[in-house]
Parts: sequence; C-alpha cells; structure tokens
Amino acid sequence: MPPSASPARTASATAPVAIDVTGLSKAYGDKVVLDGIDLRIPEGTIFALLGPNGAGKTTTVQILSTLIPADGGEVRLAGHDLVREADAVRRAIGVTGQFSAVDNLLTAEENLLLMADLNHLSRREGRRRAAELLRRFELTEAGSKPVTTFSGGMRRKLDLAMTLVGDPRVIFLDEPTTGLDPRSRRTMWEIIQSLVAEGVTIFLTTQYLEEADQLADRIAVLDRGAIVAEGTAQELKGRIPGGHIRLRFADAEGLAVAAGLFGTGTPDDEALTLDIPGDGRIPTVRAVLDVLDVASVEAESLSVHTPDLDDVFLTLTGSTR
Ligand code: ADP
Repeated sequence: MPPSASPARTASATAPVAIDVTGLSKAYGDKVVLDGIDLRIPEGTIFALLGPNGAGKTTTVQILSTLIPADGGEVRLAGHDLVREADAVRRAIGVTGQFSAVDNLLTAEENLLLMADLNHLSRREGRRRAAELLRRFELTEAGSKPVTTFSGGMRRKLDLAMTLVGDPRVIFLDEPTTGLDPRSRRTMWEIIQSLVAEGVTIFLTTQYLEEADQLADRIAVLDRGAIVAEGTAQELKGRIPGGHIRLRFADAEGLAVAAGLFGTGTPDDEALTLDIPGDGRIPTVRAVLDVLDVASVEAESLSVHTPDLDDVFLTLTGSTR
C-alpha cells in the first residue's frame, strides 16, 4: 500500500460487493418504473434507498429479491447472478416488511420453529435458533403467546427474527420502523447495527430521512425511476448549499400569493408555510423580504433552516417525502 493511501478507503475499495446492479430497468406497459439504475453495495454495510411515493423503491426490492423479473440489466447478489442462479440468490437473502410471513394464530416460538423447518434445520438446531432469536429480540417472555396479542413493535421484531432463521447474508428491510414508537425504533436500529457488525449487508427502504441518516453508510435517492443522488448522508447534505428559509403566513391567501412569487418554494397548505431553498445569509434573507415587500405580502414569521436530509430530498425531488 502506498504510504499516502488511507487504510479505511483502501478497505472499502476492496471489500467484496454484496449487491452489484448495472442498468436495471423495468416498465409496466408504457410506464417506465426503473430507467436503468446502477448500484454497488459493499458487504457488511447499510444502504438506504430513499424516494418519494411511486419512485420505484418497492419495484427495485421486488426485482432484487427475485419476486418479479426485470426487463433489462445485470444483477449479482452475494456473488450469484440474479437470473441464472436465482435459487442461490434466494438462499442468500432475507426479506422483511410488506410481505410478512408471520402467522397470527401461532405463538412467536411456533412461527420461528416453522421457519426453521422451512430452512431444513434439524429439530434440535431449530429449537436452539428460535430460543437464541427470542432472546436477542427480547421476546423470550412473549415467545409462548399467540402473535395476535403482540404490539406493532413486537410484530416487527418477530418479522425480522423470522428472516434471520435462515442466516441470510443480505437482508431487504422495507420500512422497518414505520409506525413504531421511538423506543422500539431504537431497539430495531440497534439490532440492525449488530447484524451489520457481523458482516450482513442491509438494503433498506425508508420514508424516514432520520432513519437513513442514523443507519445508512450510503444513501441513494430514487426519483421517477432514476438515481438522482448517491453518497453518505454527509456528502448529500454537502450538495445543498444551505438549507431553506421558511415563511409562515396568517392565511391561505397570503401563502398562495407568496407561492406565486417564489417559483422554487414548496408550500404546505395545512401549516401555512412556504419553504424556499436557499442559505441563511443576511443578503439572501433580505432578498426574500424585499420580494414580499414589493408585492405587499405580509409573512407572520421567518425562520432559517440549516441543511438536513429533508432539504436534500426537497431540492432533488421537489417532494418533502
Ligand atoms: P415506491 O415503492 O417508491 O412507492 P413502487 O415501486 O411501488 O414505488 O411504484 C413505482 C411505480 O410503478 C408507481 O407509479 C406504480 O404505480 C407503478 N407500479 C408498481 N407496480 C405496478 C404494477 N404491478 N402494475 C403497474 N404499475 C405498477
């Protein structure tokens, strides 16, 4: 290694790639859902795919987990070709979320044992694995109760525990913490981080920008079937020159007039606010106030927001979610 090379960079550059996607495309009839996307996700990392509703996130996960075929492109997953070695890919992956395999009439332990059977574990090994997973997810006490009695957070944990029975190398997590209270969300994040520390690769889709910020090593923003930005949370935030200026109005009329004045603003009709991309420097703020003054529009308040992932999203996709 040359003396100037950073060890961390060298390691990540040579780490095996868990998910390698080139030119992935998919259309439904005339509608292009994925327009040739490329992704390279190193082993033992968390990758977050972000995008507004309808961007193509679920379609991407469905293709990568062999549920539906792509129209074009090359995918290698855990070293296997997605099409020619689909069985090997299926053995290497776990999918949680929307397609939950949990049977509500069984207990948590019975669900795990069923999964162990499906994964061809011996009875003894299955019991050992079920007990270990119940412990890891703090479900040991609840393990003998039917899943119908579980809270949303417990269900979500059981769903992930079931995925882990097969010891997958790559896990697809579709909105893992949607609807969870903050404590359950934190537990889930800790479990996800511990999996990655063991070398598992996580492919996450989420609407929570905070979740991607907290968890993901790299984030890609998908918009209308194309990757519009890719990088670490820090890199993405760095692409935005400086957050936004938020104007709040007393009524809908003031908001509507102001929205007409600032073409780049994003109005929120319920909160009566208008977010205008831009930095918080005084000349910028003064220019905004001048535009309002000239048009005789009164804003109730003005606040300056430094960039976060929300701003990245707003700027790149024109959507707050
Ligand atoms: P996301 O998960 O980002 O919300 P999806 O992947 O679910 O987005 O959907 C992307 C686009 O593809 C949407 O416009 C959706 O209506 C369309 N779409 C998804 N599945 C089908 C289908 N089976 N038939 C037709 N259109 C579909």
